[in-house]
Amino acid sequence: MKDVAAPLARLIEELKRLPGIGPKSAQRIAFHIERAPREEAERLASALIEVKDKIKLCSICNNLTEADPCAYCSDPSRDASVVCVVETPYNALAIEKTREFRGLYHVLHGALSPLRGIGPDQLKLKSLIERLKAGTVRELIIATNPNVEGEATAIYLSKLIKPLGIKVTRIAMGIPVGSELEFADEVTMLKAIEGRREL
Ligand SMILES: [Zn+2]
Repeated sequence: MKDVAAPLARLIEELKRLPGIGPKSAQRIAFHIERAPREEAERLASALIEVKDKIKLCSICNNLTEADPCAYCSDPSRDASVVCVVETPYNALAIEKTREFRGLYHVLHGALSPLRGIGPDQLKLKSLIERLKAGTVRELIIATNPNVEGEATAIYLSKLIKPLGIKVTRIAMGIPVGSELEFADEVTMLKAIEGRREL
């Protein structure tokens, strides 16, 4: 990047680290920011810092939130007897976009992966078991990704949770196997929840 002034090169380098941003996009964004009014750049910079300073995990469901408990957990109109287990906060968002699911969530922050050294202790499982033992949950919907790790996690969870006397269901695989829920559209996601089967 020696053809570009150092501050621009630095911005391009930082942008390239972001998921989905290749070298070309990084350059385009960097030049856009350079041309934009100073206030626009400041808004972007402060939004970045605000996310780091203000976002924490909900102490009940581990979703990302500013207030604890999060908006889902503190909403009395939601059905606390159904909990949907997802790998990431944006998976919860994908389900939320269907506007049909009115239960609560539990975010694992990952999936089991022996290859990557991710075992049960690396996931937010303990808090899930504690939640379930409280006795208000009657169905647990497992909405981990339809790939090897997500399936392994679903099987592990069902073995762990069924002895507690809770109905365990798995979302239907209208979603292509090996893919990620993040990329499923709302209709596909809705069908996946509606077509869930008991494990
Ligand atoms: Zn929550």
